[in-house]
Amino acid sequence: MRLSRYFLPILKENPREAEIVSHRLMLRAGMIRQQAAGSFSWLPLGKRVLDKVCRIVREEQDRAGALEILMPTIQSADLWRESGRYEDYGKEMLRIKDRHERDMLFGPTNEEMVTEIFRSYVKSYKDLPLNLYHIQWKFRDEVRPRFGVMRSREFLMKDAYSFDLDYEGAKAAYNRMFVAYLRTFTRMGLQAIPMRADTGPIGGDLSHEFIILADTGESQVYCHRDFLDLAVPGEGTDFTNDSQIADIVKQWTTPYAATDEMHDEAAWDVIADRDRVSARGIEVGHIFHFGDKYSKPMGAKVAGPDGKEHFVSMGSYGIGPSRLIAAIIEASHDENGIIWPESVAPFDVGIINMKTGDAECDRVCEELFAALTAAGKEVLYDDTDQRPGGKFATADLIGLPWQVIVGPRGVAAGEVEIKNRRTGERETLPLAQAAQRFGAAR
Ligand code: ATP
Ligand code: MG
Repeated sequence: MRLSRYFLPILKENPREAEIVSHRLMLRAGMIRQQAAGSFSWLPLGKRVLDKVCRIVREEQDRAGALEILMPTIQSADLWRESGRYEDYGKEMLRIKDRHERDMLFGPTNEEMVTEIFRSYVKSYKDLPLNLYHIQWKFRDEVRPRFGVMRSREFLMKDAYSFDLDYEGAKAAYNRMFVAYLRTFTRMGLQAIPMRADTGPIGGDLSHEFIILADTGESQVYCHRDFLDLAVPGEGTDFTNDSQIADIVKQWTTPYAATDEMHDEAAWDVIADRDRVSARGIEVGHIFHFGDKYSKPMGAKVAGPDGKEHFVSMGSYGIGPSRLIAAIIEASHDENGIIWPESVAPFDVGIINMKTGDAECDRVCEELFAALTAAGKEVLYDDTDQRPGGKFATADLIGLPWQVIVGPRGVAAGEVEIKNRRTGERETLPLAQAAQRFGAAR
């Protein structure tokens, strides 16, 4: 992509309404545009990151055996009357009437709708386990939308729903999602810690929030230092092996970890001072087992091996890709801007032409641009006529992992400079090696 043809509305000033760094940087880097309280458009740079985050989420859901579907954003109130939640949900639900005066709503979540799909088709335990997910916009009329996409009213959510014959099956389904979440967040360069969450009237211990430690987090959290060194399960993890998956979950639920609401002072007191991490946290995911809470009132049942009918045991599993992007920035930035982990960076490499219009600089940049693109890299080529200082500032602000800097002096000497955004390290390379450095063939 040539920057001269791109839409990257960079802000020079810090927007006054932005209280936290991720919100400031997303506005300044031209990633998002606020349209109303808690509602944002995703501009080209932001959209690229959102797509990368969603791709990772999708790959890990698929790997764990979940199947992608897509349900509508607007739902019928009647479905929610079946589960009894239409009255209970309160003011966070945006209620709408259509032209026939029918009650509709903008979905804050999809348990009812997915249960309706399930009960219409699945009748036997032989078709289980089943896990259906989608990545779809949600609307929750939050009392206090704030911090940009961190707590917005319209936001993207990946929500998965598992259906099993019994508790044992549901627990195995829960464990698979638990492990999928560990992998998902790690791939985005984040360290997420699963923390016991409130199960309310459902009871049991099958509810975890996945929390990123960051000073700007909205919740106070407590955990054992051991979490910081636990190994995350690799790509080869066998999601069909229930006992292996259960072992991983055990390992990740043994050290102490709790959010404020679940904090247990007595258990905390026995942990040595040096092992205690007490910090602020951002919830990026939440998994929850709720048994027959929806299947029973909505009549979602299957015939079991015993010939009897059983209400299916369900769980739901949420991740907020839009909030995640803010969380990634909170965890990875410096005073000059964003520092993207390679896996979610909007482009892999930026080429900075320090003297656009200079025949040699232009030629070298064009060649590099072509070679890197041919090597499968996503490249943003700054071919604008801005001053070099402005170009450097933009490159640091938008945080691409690598910058290739092409200036007249270097080009005359047959060299370009490569800068790593994270470390700030610069390296001078002969022109011929620059493209190979990023995997291009000779
Ligand atoms: P919170 O406690 O932060 O209000 P929640 O518990 O209501 O969130 P869930 O229903 O568990 O949220 O939703 C699953 C995921 O969706 C959350 O872990 C989060 O990543 C994302 N999410 C929830 N609410 C918002 C929001 N207002 N803005 C952005 N993302 C959100
Ligand atoms: Mg939650």
